Amino acid sequence: MAIAKRTFDALIIGGGGAGLRAALQLSHANLKVAVVSKVFPTRSHTVSAQGGIAASLGNVSEDNWHWHMYDTVKGSDYLGDQDAIEFMCRQANEAVIELEHFGMPFDRLPNGKIYQRPFGGMTQNYGGEPVMRTCAVADRTGHAMLHTLYQRNIAAKTHFFEEYFAVDLVMDGHGYALGAVAIEIESGEPIFIEARATLLATGGAGRIFSATTNALINTGDGLGMALRAGIPLEDMEFWQFHPTGIAGAGVLVTEGARGEGGYLVNKDGERFMERYAPSAKDLASRDVVSRAMAVEIHEGRGCGKDGDYVELKLDHLGPEVIQHRLPGIRDLSIKFAHVDPIEAPIPVVPTVHYMMGGIPTNLQGQVVMPTTTAPEEAVLGLYAIGECACVSVHGANRLGSNSLLDLIVFGRAAGNHVIEYLKENPFPRPIPDGALDLPMTRLSRWDTKRDGITVDELREQMRKTMQRHCGVFRKEEVLQEGVREMLEIAARLPDVMLRDHSKIYNTGRIEALELENLMGVALATMISAAARQESRGAHARDDYPLRDDNNWLKHTLYFSEGHRLDYKPVRLKPLTVEPFKPKARVY
Ligand SMILES: Cc1cc2nc3c(=O)[nH]c(=O)nc-3n(C[C@H](O)[C@H](O)[C@H](O)COP(=O)(O)OP(=O)(O)OC[C@H]3O[C@@H](n4cnc5c(N)ncnc54)[C@H](O)[C@@H]3O)c2cc1C
Repeated sequence: MAIAKRTFDALIIGGGGAGLRAALQLSHANLKVAVVSKVFPTRSHTVSAQGGIAASLGNVSEDNWHWHMYDTVKGSDYLGDQDAIEFMCRQANEAVIELEHFGMPFDRLPNGKIYQRPFGGMTQNYGGEPVMRTCAVADRTGHAMLHTLYQRNIAAKTHFFEEYFAVDLVMDGHGYALGAVAIEIESGEPIFIEARATLLATGGAGRIFSATTNALINTGDGLGMALRAGIPLEDMEFWQFHPTGIAGAGVLVTEGARGEGGYLVNKDGERFMERYAPSAKDLASRDVVSRAMAVEIHEGRGCGKDGDYVELKLDHLGPEVIQHRLPGIRDLSIKFAHVDPIEAPIPVVPTVHYMMGGIPTNLQGQVVMPTTTAPEEAVLGLYAIGECACVSVHGANRLGSNSLLDLIVFGRAAGNHVIEYLKENPFPRPIPDGALDLPMTRLSRWDTKRDGITVDELREQMRKTMQRHCGVFRKEEVLQEGVREMLEIAARLPDVMLRDHSKIYNTGRIEALELENLMGVALATMISAAARQESRGAHARDDYPLRDDNNWLKHTLYFSEGHRLDYKPVRLKPLTVEPFKPKARVY
C-alpha cells in the first residue's frame, strides 16, 4: 500500500493536557511540531477534569512543597519514586502560575489570588489538618486548562492532525523511535509521520472495565503501541476507584464536592467515614474511602431497594455554594441520577477512574526499559507523559488533583529534554526496509473478509471479566480465574472480524484497532495483579490484607512477550531532601 509521508521535528501522539503542554514548550522553541489526536484536541479526557490542580501556593492556608511531597509519598503507599515526587511538588507553584499567565481563568479569592480548596489526603504539617491546596476553576478545571493550552498552541503554530488515529510506532531496530503511522479517520488513508522525537501522551485506559468515569476514547492506545514495540508496562495492577461515580451511570462527582463540605452516608443516615478514618473522614485518600464504601454495601448498609450504593449528601451546603462552586455537578446529578443535590443526596458507588501504572519513564519523560547490559536505558527519541506514563509520582494510589499537575510538570520537562535531544540529533535517521510492516500488516488484517465474532462481543467479555475479577477487593482464586479468562478472551482476537470494510469515517475500524490495545492493557493489569501478594494503595487483597515492604516494595514490569513479569526497585531517595521512610498509613 502506498503511504503518504510528512516530516516534523517532533511528533506528539495525544492532544490532552500532557500533549498540549509539551507541544507548547517545543513550538515556543521554534521547532516543527505535530500533534495527532483521534478526537478534536479539546475533546480529550482532560476536558472533563473537575476538581482542580494541586500546588502549595498557600493562598488560603499555610503550605509548602515539602508537605505536598509528604502527602504524595504517603498517598502512593510508598510505591511512588521519591525523586520524581520531589521534582513534581517543587515545580508545582511555578507550573500553575505559568498556566495563570497563559490565561487560565482560575477562580479568585477576594484578594485576587487563586482560589484553593481542600482535597483528599492533602494536609498541613505532615498529616495534620486538611490544607487548601487544590487550585480550581469551579468544577470545570480541566476544561479551562485544556482550552487555555489549545489556544496557546494555535498562537504558537503547533500543527494539528485532528481526528487522526495513531496505529503504531515506527522503530529503527537500533533502539531509536522514528515516528508513527496514523490513519486519517475521515478518509481511512494511512500516513507516516516521521519525527526525530516521538512523545506518547495518549491518556488513560479505564475502558478495560465496564464501570468507569473515563471517556469512550480512553482505550490505552499508547500502551498498546508500547507493548507491541517490546516496551514493558509498569505497575499495571494499580487502578484507582473513585469513591463517587454516579450509581448506574459511572459519571464522576468530583472529590471537590467533599472538599466543599459534602459527606457520605449509609442507609441509616450514618456518616460512616468517621469510623474508618477518624481524622480525615470523607477526605481520606481515595483507596481508603472506596474500600469503606464497598464494605458498607457488602455488609448490608447500602441505600436503595437493592442496597447497592451509598449517598453523597450536599444539601446542607446550601444553594449558594452548590450553584457557585459545583454547578457542573448539580447538572450531572440532575441528568444522570434525577436528583437535585440542593434538595437530596446523590447515589454514588466506587468507579474505576485512573491508571496509576503505565509506560515507564525517567524524570525527563524518556521511555526507559531494562536491558541485558544496564538496569535501565532510555529508548532514544521516545517519550511518554501524562496518564499513559508511569514516572512514578502516584505509586499505588494517586491523590486527587495531582494528575493535572503531573501533566503540566512532566509535559514541560519532556519538552525541555526533547529540545536538547534534537540539538544533538539534528538529522532524521534512515528508515530501514520493513520499518512500516507492523502498522501496515495490522491495518490490512481488518480488511480480510470472513465471518467471525464482533468487536463489541469480545470487548464486552473483556470488560465483564475485568470488572468481576479485578475489582476493589481482590483474592487469589478470583484473580487466577481472571487470568485464565483473559488469556482465553485475548486468544479470540484473531476471530474478530469487521463486516463493514468501507473507508470513509469507518469508526468500526477504529474500535477494532482500539480493542487490540485494550486487550493488551487488560492482560497487563490482570497478570500483574494476580502476582502481587500484598495490599498496597489501590491494590487490596482479601487474602493478603497487609502491606509487605520486605517482599513487595518494588515496581512491577509486564512484558507482552510470554506475559512475563519482572520487577525493579522503588527509588526511595529524593533529589535533595531526606527520604520519607515507609510507615503505617492511617488517615
Ligand atoms: C471525569 C474525570 C475527572 C477528573 N478530574 C481530575 C481533577 O479534577 N484533577 C486531576 O488532577 N485529575 C483529574 N482527573 C484525571 C486527569 O484528568 C487525567 O489523568 C488527565 O487529564 C489525562 O491527561 P492526558 O493528557 O494524559 O490524556 P487525555 O486528556 O486523556 O488525552 C489523551 C489524548 O490522546 C489522544 N489519543 C489517544 N489515543 C490515540 C490514538 N491512537 N491516536 C491519536 N490520538 C490518540 C486523544 O485523542 C487525546 O487527545 C479526572 C479524570 C476524569 C476521567
